[in-house]
Amino acid sequence: MARRKKIYEGKAKTLYEGPEPGTIVQYFKDDATAFNAEKHDVIEGKGVLNNILSEFFMLGLGQIGVPTHFLKRLNMREQLVRSCEIIPLEIIVRNYAAGSISKRLGIDEGTQLPRPIVEYCYKDDALGDPLVTEEHIAAFGWASQQDMDDILSLALRVNDFLSGVFLAVGIRLVDFKIEIGRIYEGDFQRLVIADEISPDSCRLWDINTGQKLDKDVFRRDLGSLTDAYSEVARRLGVMPNNPPAPGKPTLVN
Ligand code: UDP
Repeated sequence: MARRKKIYEGKAKTLYEGPEPGTIVQYFKDDATAFNAEKHDVIEGKGVLNNILSEFFMLGLGQIGVPTHFLKRLNMREQLVRSCEIIPLEIIVRNYAAGSISKRLGIDEGTQLPRPIVEYCYKDDALGDPLVTEEHIAAFGWASQQDMDDILSLALRVNDFLSGVFLAVGIRLVDFKIEIGRIYEGDFQRLVIADEISPDSCRLWDINTGQKLDKDVFRRDLGSLTDAYSEVARRLGVMPNNPPAPGKPTLVN
């Protein structure tokens, strides 16, 4: 059997050439990194949960007419996606202050923002993904004005969709990051939601208790990341049949 071709290995995912031209297999690893990969650990079961959660969100977005790169889940750790050219921006949408905006602007974590705020960071690990303005994006040609209009409208639609889905299961969507890809179809290009949508790239707080159910559990050493992501999957009704090991040995009678 021929060995498949690895296209790219990132911090949390590996990409392989897909079975047909224009397709890619996304393999979700168990690796967790934070602070630009200064903190690293392997969290058993994280990849399985993110694969299933990302499938759930991408399918839901497709159903409300938001285009995504997702084609189908292949197995517990892999999904087939459309190959696209990733725009080198991290699109961050914030509903409540937390993380870098709290530090930058001195706003208490948890403060509701007057309206959703969309920020752009230039995707470059070596530079630590710096915040950029639309001026930089236009001047350096990372995206056109038309792209930026489309990106803003996609980001706000994703925000409304995810906020509603999480609210229905008692979770507050504090903020999230998405990436956008271009797909060329003849003379046209289409923008689609790419990469992943998972608790690795969102801030999710329980509405009643404020408990964190996202990657801050790992960043800030707040307990078991698998337990937090499993809770999100359980509430959304997508917990895999064979839940990942909880990380602690269990006594068997
Ligand atoms: N985020 C991400 N990848 C990044 C940077 C941020 O997924 O490289 C997500 C992060 O999980 C949070 C949101 O984007 O949900 C806003 O992150 P923030 O700018 O507050 O950065 P942080 O506090 O993580 O440094």
